[in-house]
Amino acid sequence: MNIDFHCHTTASDGSLSPPALLDLAQEREIDMLSITDHDTLEAYQQLDQVYNSIQIIPGIELSSQWNRRGVHIVGLNVGLSSPSILEAVEKQSTARRERAEKIAEKLERFGFEDCLAGALSFASSPEQIGRPHFARYLVKIGAVSNFQQAFKRYLGAGKAGDIKDQWADPKTVIGWIRDAGGVAVLAHPTKYKLTRTKLIELLTDFKVAGGEAMEVISGSQLPSVTRDMARLCRDIGFDASCGSDFHAPNQEWAALGKVAPLPDNCSPIWQRWQ
Ligand code: AMP
Ligand code: MN
Ligand code: MN
Ligand code: MN
Repeated sequence: MNIDFHCHTTASDGSLSPPALLDLAQEREIDMLSITDHDTLEAYQQLDQVYNSIQIIPGIELSSQWNRRGVHIVGLNVGLSSPSILEAVEKQSTARRERAEKIAEKLERFGFEDCLAGALSFASSPEQIGRPHFARYLVKIGAVSNFQQAFKRYLGAGKAGDIKDQWADPKTVIGWIRDAGGVAVLAHPTKYKLTRTKLIELLTDFKVAGGEAMEVISGSQLPSVTRDMARLCRDIGFDASCGSDFHAPNQEWAALGKVAPLPDNCSPIWQRWQ
C-alpha cells in the first residue's frame, strides 16, 4: 500500500494546485491520500473530478501552540462540512491574518518595507498568508539570498518573525477535529527540536487531550529515527501515521508518495478506513 497522509497544495503553501497534486498522486500510484493544507480545507473545493484509484481521506493541518512552542496537529477523516471544522477554519484564518500583521511589523523593524502587501502577493488569499509567503518576499527584495535563509534569520523557530501566540492550544484543536468526526494526529514530532523529556511530555499531553496518533514517518528520515518514533508511538499507545509533507516537486526530502513503510510494531492509522 502506498499511503501519503500529509501534503500541501496552492490552497496553503504548496506549489501544485489540488488537481495537479492528484495527477502526481496517480502517477506515483498512491492508494490512500490526505491533502492536509495549513488551516484550510479549500483544496477539497477545488477537486472537480472523481479519482477512482485513490481513496481520499479528508484532512487538514492545524497550527497550535503547546507551552509557547508552535506545534502542528493533523486532523484526518474530518467531515468537510461539519460545523466544528468550519468554525476551526474560520478562527484559524482570523489568527493567521492577525499574525501576519505582527510578522510584518517585526520585519519592518529590520528596515524591510511593505512586508504585508509583499507577502500577500505570494499567497492565494489573505486567509492563507503564512511564513513561507514572507520568506519569498524577503528573497524578492534581496533581504536574504534564499528561502531557507529567510527562516534561519527571521522566520524560523525563536526568530523575530516566529509568532505563535495566536494559535489555540492542543486541547482546543483536538476538540475541533474530534467534533468533526476526525482523528487527531501529532504532525512531525521530530521537527520541534525538543529534548527527549519534553517530547515525551508533549506526546503525553497530546494523548490526555484526546490525540490518538502521531506521524512516525515524515518525509525522508533516517531508519534509526523511524525505529525510535515507532517505539515511542507504540509505548504511548498511539496509532501510527505517515506522510511526505510534500510542498513542491523539487524538494526530494518531501516527495509525494515516496514514504518508507511503517515498521511492523506500528498500528497503522489507515486500518480504520480500509
Ligand atoms: P506557517 O504555517 O505560516 O507557520 O508556516 C509554516 C510553514 O513554513 C511550514 O509548514 C513549512 O512549509 C515552512 N517552514 C517552517 N520552517 C521552515 C524552515 N526552517 N525552512 C523552510 N521552511 C520552513
Ligand atoms: Mn508548509
Ligand atoms: Mn507542519
Ligand atoms: Mn505540513
